[in-house]
Amino acid sequence: MECISVFDMLKIGVGPSSSHTLGPWRAAELFLKELRDRNIFDQVSSLKIDLFGSLSLTGVGHATDLAVMLGLSGADPEYVPVEDISGIIDHINASQSLLLGGTMPVVFNPKENIVFNRNFLPFHANGMTFTVQYGEHELYESTFYSIGGGFVVKEENPDNQEKEEIKATFPFPIEKATELLAYCKEQNMSISELVYENEKSIRSEEEIHNELLRVWNTMLECMYIGCHTEGILPGGLNVRRRAYDTHSKLKGDLPYNTPQEWLQTIRKTKVYFRQILKWVSCFALAVNEVNASLGRVVTAPTNGSAGVIPAVLMYYLVIENHKAGDKEIKQFLMVAGEIGSIFKKGATISAAMGGCQAEIGVSSAMAAGALCELMGGTPEQVTVAAEIAMEHHLGLTCDPIGGLVQVPCIERNTMGAIKAINAAELALDTDPKNAKVPLDKVVNTMWETAKDMNNKYKETSEGGLAVAVNLSDC
Ligand code: SF4
Repeated sequence: MECISVFDMLKIGVGPSSSHTLGPWRAAELFLKELRDRNIFDQVSSLKIDLFGSLSLTGVGHATDLAVMLGLSGADPEYVPVEDISGIIDHINASQSLLLGGTMPVVFNPKENIVFNRNFLPFHANGMTFTVQYGEHELYESTFYSIGGGFVVKEENPDNQEKEEIKATFPFPIEKATELLAYCKEQNMSISELVYENEKSIRSEEEIHNELLRVWNTMLECMYIGCHTEGILPGGLNVRRRAYDTHSKLKGDLPYNTPQEWLQTIRKTKVYFRQILKWVSCFALAVNEVNASLGRVVTAPTNGSAGVIPAVLMYYLVIENHKAGDKEIKQFLMVAGEIGSIFKKGATISAAMGGCQAEIGVSSAMAAGALCELMGGTPEQVTVAAEIAMEHHLGLTCDPIGGLVQVPCIERNTMGAIKAINAAELALDTDPKNAKVPLDKVVNTMWETAKDMNNKYKETSEGGLAVAVNLSDC
């Protein structure tokens, strides 16, 4: 059984896409490791990357080409200063060479050496092959698959066997919601308490505390940047940033200088009923505008859906509970991570495999479950909340206009957040015994729906809004 940590589900990275940016970036890093392990790193004189399927069809809009170049250059998506990214890419284009692993120059012409192949590899919709040469002689090639949420696997290793060690150490291995609920009952624990026990088996308590707060602070900073940045998003669609205008209208005139002070300021702002929806939408818009501009975000569970969880957690902090602090933030993230991992194991979090239900739908379910626990829900009610949120995203297609993670993606995060809040409220008023659809059933239904969905609606930009809207009109 695959044991997935909360930090696998909530990864710090760079936008705009977890499957098309973060995954290929990580694949490039893994390829570098393979070259070093085989002692052929120093022999490489040139290299080529073949992108297949969805990585090819929406790769330019999703910055897949930039991601592989950054990964091969030795930049870490978690830590590289985002303001350095354009400089690294400009240097590769101007010099027609790439500093492999940040140390060794190799001949590299992005226009010729990154090949966009329209065909799909049989194993997964997001395939990529790295090939290196010494002179005319091919040294080595390796194929990776980006399976959503920044996860990367090899065909011969589909369950990511590198994590075998971690698998064996979780005291409460969970594949399905029924198992999660059984452990909670048996141990008399909440979902977050159970997740904490699992995390403690692989990390110190101090590390869990610090990393969860690092995740949260990245989310908070992302919302802060999005709410304070105006202008047009890159990519050619001429999408105007909206979080700035909405935020400007909503905020009072209390002073602040940092994201943390900003949060406290909003808490002091009187929020009228009508404005609640606007605030939640503003937080979600802010994250996904930062994501669309290749900013730093937390994959939750993907980059395209990165705004839902921060927006719902902000809702809790700003509207529901002004006294909440680190404890509640950590609790929220742990429940969200667990719900997300159940969807990953039982279905998919890849839009290339399941459409947008796998991104916004899953993020909404994660947020709904987490909010429900913070608002006093039992473990059973938490799973009811997650189920309700997904139930009303079933069949949602992925059809990004121009292959960019902008329309409908940015706005769709606001919808996922609002549905999550509603789902949590509905679940709190529900006796789980009367709930007709268990969470595991909706996970399975999502997967069956994903398999039936036409490829046009799976992150290919070959159907839906992506073909209905004429790019020249934008
Ligand atoms: S439509 Fe949904 S799944 Fe597709 S790129 Fe946008 S947010 Fe991601």
